[in-house]
Amino acid sequence: MIERKKVAVIGGGVSGLAAAKAFDERGHRVVGFERSHDFGGVWEPSRSYPDVQTQSPKDLYCYTDHPMPDSYPEWPKGPQVHAYLHSYAEKHNTARLFKLNTNVKAMNQRSDGQPGWTLTLEAGSHRWHEDFDFVAVATGQFSDKNIIRHPGQDGFVAAGGAVMHSSEYTDPEMIKGKRVVVLGGSKSATDIAVNAANSGARSVHWVYLEPVWRVPYFVGGINFKRLLYMRAQEQQFNAWGKSALQRVVAAVLKPLVWANFRGLETLLKTQLGLRKYGLVPKAPIEREVSCSVPIVTPGLFEALKAGKIKNIEGTFDRYDGKTIHLTGGEKIEADTTILAVGWKLGVPYLPQEFQDKLIEPDGQYRVYRLAVNPDLPDMGFVGFNSSFCTVLSAEMIANWLVRYADGQLSNQPTTSQMNSNIDLMLNWKRAERPAAQIYGGLCSAPFHFKHFDELLADMGARKTKRSNPLAEQFGYPSHTAYGEFLASCPQYQAG
Ligand SMILES: Cc1cc2nc3c(=O)[nH]c(=O)nc-3n(C[C@H](O)[C@H](O)[C@H](O)COP(=O)(O)OP(=O)(O)OC[C@H]3O[C@@H](n4cnc5c(N)ncnc54)[C@H](O)[C@@H]3O)c2cc1C
Repeated sequence: MIERKKVAVIGGGVSGLAAAKAFDERGHRVVGFERSHDFGGVWEPSRSYPDVQTQSPKDLYCYTDHPMPDSYPEWPKGPQVHAYLHSYAEKHNTARLFKLNTNVKAMNQRSDGQPGWTLTLEAGSHRWHEDFDFVAVATGQFSDKNIIRHPGQDGFVAAGGAVMHSSEYTDPEMIKGKRVVVLGGSKSATDIAVNAANSGARSVHWVYLEPVWRVPYFVGGINFKRLLYMRAQEQQFNAWGKSALQRVVAAVLKPLVWANFRGLETLLKTQLGLRKYGLVPKAPIEREVSCSVPIVTPGLFEALKAGKIKNIEGTFDRYDGKTIHLTGGEKIEADTTILAVGWKLGVPYLPQEFQDKLIEPDGQYRVYRLAVNPDLPDMGFVGFNSSFCTVLSAEMIANWLVRYADGQLSNQPTTSQMNSNIDLMLNWKRAERPAAQIYGGLCSAPFHFKHFDELLADMGARKTKRSNPLAEQFGYPSHTAYGEFLASCPQYQAG
């Protein structure tokens, strides 16, 4: 008999919804907490910049049992994703489980000697404590703004300038007629630069530290989902845990793999005209592929060509009145700076003693299967296994986590097994795959299939691959196939 638990889910984005559904479905008593007034996380409109859209194609950005509507474009816009998440919550009657406008301020191990955690909760002026047997943390990697300041910023503002984080740019009216400078190399930076250039900004400069590889929605005329999300492609990267035979095969095929990636680089350079804009990255593409690789914002290269956006490599040195001095010596006159410099990864509500157990000195997380830490019992993370198809990753790990919490994994790991696997993964990232250290080492891309294979094996799935071997090798991770694989795992009910 599996005991029915009282489970807290922190966060009501993609991952919180997946976690609430997974634990509710197994019969647990779920209470979700979302500090915002609405579900959606990064897709909640008051947090999104105009024109935001997915990087993932729509059939790679959905839950297994809930495709996006046919009427949606291949890369849906932010409000469409938001509406889709609402429809998912409605379909599974998940909203009833959540308390909105409720902030988790702290979590501490229970003081009554029982397993689990006591959450300190705050809703408006009301603050209270509540005990839970298990906590699923789904607060994402984009919840706390990375705020940076440069010398002279106060003077810039005093002179009438405006400085904002990318998430605060919510309305193109903010930049009409303004001289805009966007700082950052990610997709949000280029999305905002293109939006500003098309929305009546007087001028737009885009400043970034160094060029990075960017993948267009269509590579050589082919939707990138048909090229970059394959088992066959994934096997070309230096994955962890290769057997001696796999290492020999990899060594033999190395020249072919090398040639394949050089071919891809040449294609990207030619298609996008990277040389012309000084945007050819220094690092080989295969070394860089991880969750930080951005998709090309539609219209970016057209705007560069038309001179509507001017790109400059470097960063801000200081403001001087309304002049921005860059590290390379350039000066830009500006009215508005938009700092697309990302988010602070963390779990600030977790006591320091647990953060120290969770996060290594180099910022990497000690998490087994990117979900649990053996020194932090009765809790786990959902959606920290981010990828190029994060909705599916979140759903997979949510289903894994509930089984882990209930001791129902077919491969239920011991503490020492978890620790040795965590060490193996950390060593692999440090020695062989530095790109995987991005975002605290919490990115499963480009190893989607390998990660999902491990989760399905742990869950005891009877079906783990599509019947058609060609589709399995050369097809992208299909949400319907993964729905079948999950359904083939042993099912049970708590209580
Ligand atoms: C602009 C943009 C585009 C993206 N496009 C893609 C894409 O195409 N494909 C892809 O795979 N990924 C994409 N991502 C990554 C994206 O973060 C994930 O796909 C996914 O939305 C993450 O969901 P989440 O629920 O894990 O986190 P979030 O969406 O960040 O949700 C976390 C929630 O937790 C809440 N929260 C945080 N702290 C607390 C607290 N203390 N108490 C209560 N609630 C709290 C927050 O308010 C938030 O609602 C994109 C991200 C951004 C920013």
